[in-house]
Amino acid sequence: MPSSLPARLPSALAAGLLATGLLLAGLVAAPAAPASAAPAPAPTTASLPKDQLVVPPSALARADALDDATTTGPVVHTLWVSTVSATAATTDDTVTSLDRASIDAAVTALHDYWWEESGGRVDVRLGGVEERSLGGTSCDASATLSKVKASAFGGSFASYGWAGTEKHLLVLPREACGTQAFGTIGGDGGEIVSSYGLGQQLGVPVLLHEFGHNLGLGHAGSALCRSTTSYDGAPGDFRSAADAACPTEEYGDHLDIMGYSVSGARPHLSSPQRMRLGWLPSTVALSTPATTKRVVLPSLDTAAAGRAVDVTDPVSGQHYTLEYRTATGRDRSSAEFAGGAPRCTVVATGFTKCALDSSAATGSVRVLRALPQPGGFVTTVALAVGTDSAADPARRDTHLDAGESFTSAGGGFTVAVASLSPQGGAVLDVSLRGPRGAVSTATALTLSTASQTYGGAGATATAVVTRADGTAPAGTVSLVDGSTVLSTVPVGTGGRTTIAVPTTLAAGSHALRASFTPADPAVTASSSAPQTLTVAAGATTTSLRVSGPQQTFGSTTTTLTATVPQVAGSWPAGSVTFTRSGVPVAVVPLASGTASWVVPSSTSAGKWSFTASFAPSSTSLVKSVSAPQTVTVVPASSTVAITPATTSPARNTATTATVTVRVAGVASPAGSVTVLSDGRAVQTVALTSTGQGTATVTLPRYATAGSPVVSVRYSGTPDVLGSTSAGVTLRVR
Ligand SMILES: [Zn+2]
Repeated sequence: MPSSLPARLPSALAAGLLATGLLLAGLVAAPAAPASAAPAPAPTTASLPKDQLVVPPSALARADALDDATTTGPVVHTLWVSTVSATAATTDDTVTSLDRASIDAAVTALHDYWWEESGGRVDVRLGGVEERSLGGTSCDASATLSKVKASAFGGSFASYGWAGTEKHLLVLPREACGTQAFGTIGGDGGEIVSSYGLGQQLGVPVLLHEFGHNLGLGHAGSALCRSTTSYDGAPGDFRSAADAACPTEEYGDHLDIMGYSVSGARPHLSSPQRMRLGWLPSTVALSTPATTKRVVLPSLDTAAAGRAVDVTDPVSGQHYTLEYRTATGRDRSSAEFAGGAPRCTVVATGFTKCALDSSAATGSVRVLRALPQPGGFVTTVALAVGTDSAADPARRDTHLDAGESFTSAGGGFTVAVASLSPQGGAVLDVSLRGPRGAVSTATALTLSTASQTYGGAGATATAVVTRADGTAPAGTVSLVDGSTVLSTVPVGTGGRTTIAVPTTLAAGSHALRASFTPADPAVTASSSAPQTLTVAAGATTTSLRVSGPQQTFGSTTTTLTATVPQVAGSWPAGSVTFTRSGVPVAVVPLASGTASWVVPSSTSAGKWSFTASFAPSSTSLVKSVSAPQTVTVVPASSTVAITPATTSPARNTATTATVTVRVAGVASPAGSVTVLSDGRAVQTVALTSTGQGTATVTLPRYATAGSPVVSVRYSGTPDVLGSTSAGVTLRVR
């Protein structure tokens, strides 16, 4: 074994063998195209873990096919076949059909396959056949290859002698050799060892795969990105690790010869590699930002032009390939279309990827990426872009059916599958986002009316947003009053959005604008010309209630309550002025719609007309006055008493008496008191405003002894009724 080959290879091969063999056990595959008359053996899958041997880092480490791509005509690849008996015994010879006829048939199959896939560039021919016997005791594929290539065909393959020659050494042991196959990748030639033999069912598909490595092709995998919002990721997200953002299953693309080798299956090489190598002319390239294009994509199996779409994501700059695969021609043999049970595996916690479930009736659209690998070769990955069961982004398969769509990471482009027809092609709508600000928009605003009243019916604003191409962009529309955003809503159907103008806009003139904010950074914002809306002040109503129609002078039994209802859903602010017979008597702030005032005790007797007028503090409201309410104030009643200084005055002597007038609620009643002696008025005294209703009066001088009766009469006032005291009998001595 040359030191340049990885020493860990044999054990790694053995470990991977078991796992992969179990993984795909029971696959049902259609027969290979050149089917033999013998019944097809049970479908099996070749296990080829780490079957691509990277040649030493030198000028050899390059993709042979890329070199071929620079030429215009066919490049002859010569295959030299060495059949080997690794052990002296023949009892362990399990690989049959290593005869010359089988070799010729295999070379023909290799030629036909790669000639077709390369568009007539790769021309495989048989150079020679030799038989070798190593005389060992066991067969190890890697060791066998090392021994054979050292001396095969005169040593012309020793020390990578094939490099740069387009010569290929195929070593075919007669022993199972651990059922292994591998080939070198890159270097203008190559080595292949396969203990799968030359059977058309599995041996030849394995050879087609390994020869692909010699041509510089990496493996075809599939990946499921662990996101519920994006089915895609950055290139570094795609790794063969469970904790990767996009766990990638190497070999997981069953619609590619560089994926798993399945018995009887010889699917096409998928389009990203064929495009990269110049093997697929007349493909459709989409890279113009801010465009939507309808593409009719013929089946990759046909010879039609435009069998693949190369999309350059305008945001990330990454390339994506869209292709339409149908159950026709070579792809009819693919396990993907065999109609067997889907192969669904949990590739990451909560995420299940299904394969082998494409419809053979409609075919399916695939989204592929090419991922450069260390060593200079490129692998491909089929993205898990379709929901396996409706609306469950955690279960996906590696294709799009009609009605499904895919958006690249970062949202650079979206492909939607309108319909699928193996004869008519897949109809795709591919939308590319533009760079920031690439698409201009215009916004227009109309108002249903030029005026509205505060708190009344509001106007309706209609904004229409259009892109330069006439379509409606996604985003939001804000109704703006000067610099104040009144309302923000999503853009409506067809770009037409209606917004109710708030009924609480302040009275006055408003310059309203509609302002569009795009969802897509590629689309520009736009704002309408201002539209003037005149808002009139809103009406208020004031009502007045009295707690009772009558009040007695000196009491405070009557309360006036003014009420002003809400306007536009809120309590008006301001003050209420109460007037009495047209004269303002009180100003009370309105609180929660009410203002109260108690009719004072000093209010004179009479019939009074009260009103309440509301003066709003906001200029958006109009003042209002209540209907008048009448309150009658009636005079208060009074009592008066006389208390002589002495009730037994001496004759011809002047004495005094104290007079007291009492009125409820009145501290110092006004008016006068008249002293009566035996009913004859003898003196009148005015009550003072500070006298508390009392006065001192002088009683007459009585000349003779007797028993005069003195009393007092209170005059009353317009607000207080008069009264007369009881008589007091004097004893004049
Ligand atoms: Zn391989």
